[in-house]
Amino acid sequence: MTKYLVERATLTDGSQSNILISEGVIKWVGHSVLPVEVQDAIRVDVNGAIALPGLVDLHTHLREPGREDSETVLSGSRSAAKGGFTAVSAMANTFPVADTAGVVEQVYRLGQLAGFVDVFPIGAVTQGLAGKALAELGAMADSEARVRVFSDDGNCVFDPMVMRRALEYVKKFGGVIAQHAQDPVLTVDSQMNEGIISSRLGLKGWPSVAEEAIIARDVLLADHVGSRLHICHVTTAGGVEIIRWAKSRGIQVSAEVTPHHLLLTDDYARNFDPVFKVNPPLRTQEDVMALREGLADGTIDIVATDHAPHPSESKECEWQAAAFGMIGLETALSIVQLTMVESGLISWSHVADRMSLAPAKIGRYSDHGQPILPGSTANLTFVDSGGSWKVDRDLMLSRSRNTPFHGMELPGQVVATFYRGEPTVLNGALVRGTRVS
Ligand SMILES: [Zn+2]
Repeated sequence: MTKYLVERATLTDGSQSNILISEGVIKWVGHSVLPVEVQDAIRVDVNGAIALPGLVDLHTHLREPGREDSETVLSGSRSAAKGGFTAVSAMANTFPVADTAGVVEQVYRLGQLAGFVDVFPIGAVTQGLAGKALAELGAMADSEARVRVFSDDGNCVFDPMVMRRALEYVKKFGGVIAQHAQDPVLTVDSQMNEGIISSRLGLKGWPSVAEEAIIARDVLLADHVGSRLHICHVTTAGGVEIIRWAKSRGIQVSAEVTPHHLLLTDDYARNFDPVFKVNPPLRTQEDVMALREGLADGTIDIVATDHAPHPSESKECEWQAAAFGMIGLETALSIVQLTMVESGLISWSHVADRMSLAPAKIGRYSDHGQPILPGSTANLTFVDSGGSWKVDRDLMLSRSRNTPFHGMELPGQVVATFYRGEPTVLNGALVRGTRVS
């Protein structure tokens, strides 16, 4: 294994340091006298870029198996590395569904083979995501993929008895149920947030209560059985309030917000451009501000992308016919810098927590989210916070183009990513192209 000396990195406390990486591990962090081992190291000057522990995305749709026209484990892994990630959790709504040990092991191995990030499969809660019978939770937990996060994402686990049994089942191996909180009855045919804009556009609305009612029910269930619950992509001010209340009562609940819900509102639907059609929908400015506040004060634990690639034929059509979802791996860190850091709401050490330490802890990914200290696994991201770039969907490494940020000038550029001690990104460009997607 090659040795690397990363020079002139800025740590989150503002100090400048050099970081020696060898055998996949951080060997030394300092700025004065270099240790003797640096002599044969490759030098990588990051020119003051901020050093973060490698980013961890707890909510990624990689689409393989079954929808390789929109993304594969390899193309999604490359996109993730470019965005500064060293681990992603792959959602279970593939074809076939990841509801057996066989499918999660297949996805896990494809991730290892791609070799750009750790791909941790999420197992389905119920067979076929149908919401009826529990999937093989124990077999997936015991498999080579060691699944700890389970979700029917895309669908809500609506039956309270099924939800209760799932929460009880995962307790014995420290698992967590990640709920896509959406009452399916209140949201039949819903197209966008229910509000002034939806009534003006004549589109069927999606009320906040459809999300909040499920969050409220599930924090009470998690409390009742003493298990861990994670709420996917919170979008409403009321949802933040319920989670704040649950945490104040000591209930084991964690929550995520997506970058797009930190920036965009339902106003973007005004021109019927389906690139802004997403599940859960973009909400109001008041919701956006509550989400930012919740992420800043820790009510919302993490940022997760909900990277949802779709082929152009599913997005370049009428609003009603278009698929829900946006890609987000390559823009996530920039959107967090724009909405949270530049607004003064959080510091870079909070970014490290919300995008690496906390998601790694929720997913039980022990090699990720470690502090930048000797002995830690060398999963690292270096971001030039003073730089900016223009989003161009045609230059993205995802196989899909459905980014809502196309054409926007965003702050912050990932200049280097190290995954298990080897660079996947250098000087802002992907390296290690051993396989071509
Ligand atoms: Zn979802």
